Amino acid sequence: MTPPFPAVVLDLDGTLTVPGTTRPAQGVVGLVEGLHARGVPLAVATSASTRVARRVLDELGLLRCVDSVAGRGPDGVDAGKTAVVGEALLGLGITAAAPGTPMLGDGPADIAAALAHDLLAIGVAWGGTRPAALREAGARVVLEHPDELWALGAS
Ligand SMILES: [Mg+2]
Repeated sequence: MTPPFPAVVLDLDGTLTVPGTTRPAQGVVGLVEGLHARGVPLAVATSASTRVARRVLDELGLLRCVDSVAGRGPDGVDAGKTAVVGEALLGLGITAAAPGTPMLGDGPADIAAALAHDLLAIGVAWGGTRPAALREAGARVVLEHPDELWALGAS
């Protein structure tokens, strides 16, 4: 079975979790587990510290599904989302993303970072940013529910 996507990059807060909490957003655990089960390499790119991000993913039961976690380092310097996404991709061994590699995020900075790396920029509506604002930032699609991602992949 061919994986439906070459890889998927995911923002953490507001995308995998309910904004400002460590609770999973509805449907995301099933999506991440499903992508992992189908052999899709997964990376998380976050403005949170890498250490905190790994702990949150562990609490969600998803750390085992994720191959690369990139965030702020111990020095506390926030290099910006575009740099973090680049690091997340490198963690998957990717220096240039294959066409059709999605990145999911709930904020305009996620969309900008996705576009900077030639990723398929996908907004998520459950993080609180208006879908129109995500589209204005360049999101190709705005998902209302995580399961809608499947329709964008190879079957
Ligand atoms: Mg976010």
